Amino acid sequence: MSDNWILIVPKRPKHIPSPDSAKAALDLLERSMPDADEIDIVQSEHVQFFDCGANLETITCPRCSANIDFCWWGETMSADYDEMLGFQLNEYRLPCCSTSASLNELIYAFHQAFGRFALSAMNPNIGKMSDDAVSKIEAVLDCNVSVVYQHI
Ligand SMILES: [Zn+2]
Repeated sequence: MSDNWILIVPKRPKHIPSPDSAKAALDLLERSMPDADEIDIVQSEHVQFFDCGANLETITCPRCSANIDFCWWGETMSADYDEMLGFQLNEYRLPCCSTSASLNELIYAFHQAFGRFALSAMNPNIGKMSDDAVSKIEAVLDCNVSVVYQHI
């Protein structure tokens, strides 16, 4: 038995929408994903990682598009994570082209995100969100978001 989650995360990792906006977005999701087992607001004091689970196929460099080795990525994830303060999202020199980028700038397929806030829907059974649905959530939250499709 596997589960699918849709996680909607502000593009700026430290951003937290106002409580009224968060509640309005939650109401909107509940109306647009009536089949979901569970819809929640996830909020934390520090930046956490919202992964796509088994959907992760490749990680590529945002500068030269080379594939990034999963071992390098795993080690850099550990180095960037502070037990007290969460992810720092510092810049690291990339193994491919020696330019620098934070873990949040790497290109993940499927997409993954870092943030202090997310709206999460368990088994919404809708496939992918339409651009229109994402725009509506952005309007209600008053910030740009990205969507993580997590398969566990
Ligand atoms: Zn590169």
